[in-house]
Amino acid sequence: MSGPVVMKFGGSSVANAERLRNVADIVRSEDADGIVVVLSALGGVTDALFSCGKTAAARNEAGALGGLGRIMERHREVAGELFGGAVPDELADFIAAAEHELSLLLRGSAMLGALPDQSLDALVGHGELLSSRLLAAFMQVPWLDARLVVRTDSRFGQARPLPAEIRDLAGKEVLPILARGGIVVTQGYIGSDASGAPTTLGRGGSDFSASLFGAAIRAAEIQIWTDVEGVLTCDPRVVPDARPVEHLGYDEAAELAAFGAKVLHPATILPAVELGIPVTVRNSLLRKGRFTSITRDASSGLPVTALASRAPVSVLTVRSPGMLGGAGFLARIFEAFGRRGVSVDLVSTSEVSVSMTVEASAPLEGLAEELSSFADVRIERERAIVALVGEQLRRTPGVAGMAFSALRDMNVEMISLGANEINLSLVVAQSDAPEALRRLHAAFFGKENSGSVSKGVA
Ligand code: ASP
Ligand code: MG
Repeated sequence: MSGPVVMKFGGSSVANAERLRNVADIVRSEDADGIVVVLSALGGVTDALFSCGKTAAARNEAGALGGLGRIMERHREVAGELFGGAVPDELADFIAAAEHELSLLLRGSAMLGALPDQSLDALVGHGELLSSRLLAAFMQVPWLDARLVVRTDSRFGQARPLPAEIRDLAGKEVLPILARGGIVVTQGYIGSDASGAPTTLGRGGSDFSASLFGAAIRAAEIQIWTDVEGVLTCDPRVVPDARPVEHLGYDEAAELAAFGAKVLHPATILPAVELGIPVTVRNSLLRKGRFTSITRDASSGLPVTALASRAPVSVLTVRSPGMLGGAGFLARIFEAFGRRGVSVDLVSTSEVSVSMTVEASAPLEGLAEELSSFADVRIERERAIVALVGEQLRRTPGVAGMAFSALRDMNVEMISLGANEINLSLVVAQSDAPEALRRLHAAFFGKENSGSVSKGVA
C-alpha cells in the first residue's frame, strides 16, 4: 500500500493478552508506509472507570478505590501474560503512576461528593492510555499520547475536535515517525483542549479518533478492526446467512446507521470520507476474511445493498377532509410536533391524511389530543420500520414490487421512499419484522438470486 494507514482496534479486539498479541500480529503483517495504531480501552474498562467515578461521587471512597484496584489489577495481569512475568519497569511504572493519579482523583471526588465533567474525562480516558501502553511496550514501538495531537474544544464528555489544529499537531508529532516507515501506537476517544485539560469525544469515540488521525496524516486507508466481518447485509441474529457488503457508499452507511446497524457511526468517519480516504471495516478474528470498504460514492451495484430495521416505533395517522387543498394542514401538524419536541421519521401523505412514524417513547397523548381539535388522529404502536437501502434503488425499477411480493400476506402499513432515494422503508407490525427481514433477504440476497430484480418481477 502506498502511503500510511490508520488501524483502529475496538475494545473487544483488545480484551486480553491473547487478543493484544493478535493485534500485534495484524499490525506487523500490514505492509504500509507507516502505521498509526489507534486503540480503544480493554473491553469493559471504560464502563468500569465510569462506574468508579459514580461510586466516588456518591461519597463511597472505599468502593471507588476497590473498583480502581480491580481495573489496575486486570492491566497488570495482561502485562504479566504479555511479558511472561518479566514486565518492563517502564510499563510497570506507567501503570503505577496511573493508579496513583486516579486514586487521588477518586479520593477528592469522594470527599467532594461530586465529580465535575472535567475530572470525569481525565478519569475515563485512562482506559485507552493503559491499553495503548501495553501494546506499544509489547510491540516495542513508539507510544504517542493522543492528547498532544487531538485538540478539541472544552465540552467535556462530548468534545468537538479542531481539525486544522490536529493536522498541524500531527505534522509535528506523528509524521516524522511515519516518514521513517514506522509504527506508532496511540489512543482513541481522548484529546485535550487549548489549556491542555484532557477531554473525550463521547462514548464509542475511537472510530472518530481514527478518522481524525487518518484525515490529519492523509492516510491511504483507515482500517476499523472489530469483531464482525464488516457491515453485513442484515442483522445476523435475525438472518443467519447475512453476509458482508463489499462496497458501501457513505450515504448508504449513514442510512443503515440511522436504522441501528451497529458497526460504526458514519458521522465519525466523515472527516476521512470527505478527503476520499477509504474506510474499511474488518474482523480481527478473521483477519484474512471478507470486509467492507466504505467510500464516498461506492456502492454494491445491487438494487439493494443491505437491510435494516428499527422497532418499536409508533405510527400516528392524522386525517382531515380539510387537507384537500388546505395548504396549512401539514404546517399545523408539524408545528405541533416541533413545539412538543417530537421528531418524525417517515412521512407518507395522501390527499386526506398523513402518516408519520415516531419513536415509541415519544409523548404522543398530548400531541394527539391537540391535533384532534382539527383532525382525526389514530395511533398504532408496536410497529417496525424495515428499510431497504441501496444507492441503485432509484435506478432500479421493480424493487418495490419485489419487496411486496416477498411480503405477500403481510400487512404493509406504510411505505416511504426517502428523499435521497436510497432508502425504501416499509412499516409492518413489530412481530412481523423478523420474518419480513428474512423474506426480503432471501428475495434480494438469497443464494438462487444474486440480487437481479428482473427475475423476481414480471
Ligand atoms: N473506550 C471508549 C468507549 O468505550 C471509546 C471507544 O471504545 O470507542 O466508549
Ligand atoms: Mg467501539
